Amino acid sequence: MLRSSDETVDIRHWKKVAQHLPEEIVADRFLTKEECEAAVFQSIWELGYKCPRCDFEGKSWVLKSRNIFQCPDCRFQYSARSQTPLRRKTVPFLDCFKGAEWIIATMAANRRNILTINSFAGIVKLKNYRTARALRLEMFKELQKPLGGFWGRLICVDAVQESVDSQDRLEALMDYYDFGSLKARFTKFEK
Ligand SMILES: [Zn+2]
Repeated sequence: MLRSSDETVDIRHWKKVAQHLPEEIVADRFLTKEECEAAVFQSIWELGYKCPRCDFEGKSWVLKSRNIFQCPDCRFQYSARSQTPLRRKTVPFLDCFKGAEWIIATMAANRRNILTINSFAGIVKLKNYRTARALRLEMFKELQKPLGGFWGRLICVDAVQESVDSQDRLEALMDYYDFGSLKARFTKFEK
């Protein structure tokens, strides 16, 4: 159960974000690390890109190697990850996409009781309790922003998905992740 004393749960917010999740679940939409990284790049660019070091804004960025960009002005090189909430973290984007979807789906279906650290850790494949707890809270806070903030931009689509019911989506995810065994598998964390 997610406990957070300073936030009041606004189900309307979560339902609104969930309405922009396509029917196809994240695990079927994003198959590789590369696809996720491409989505992250895309989302960073859409916000209007600025060099993190010299504030240069322009279009002639150089791709040095896969996912390493170089500022055309100051030649600073950096990865997409360094410009995201995952800087200094090693958890794969794909697992975070799945974690974000799980948070949105449980909240929108008003089932925060199953948004446990265990279930979240199982989906993002983290074995350390504190790491999982910290990431869940961080992602939850970001997802509380309009349309789910950074994570929402990555896994949501523009069009409202009228046909997808919140309960159905959650059930589809619970089936996909074999929720029963997920609970049993992640009762023990590494210290
Ligand atoms: Zn620069």
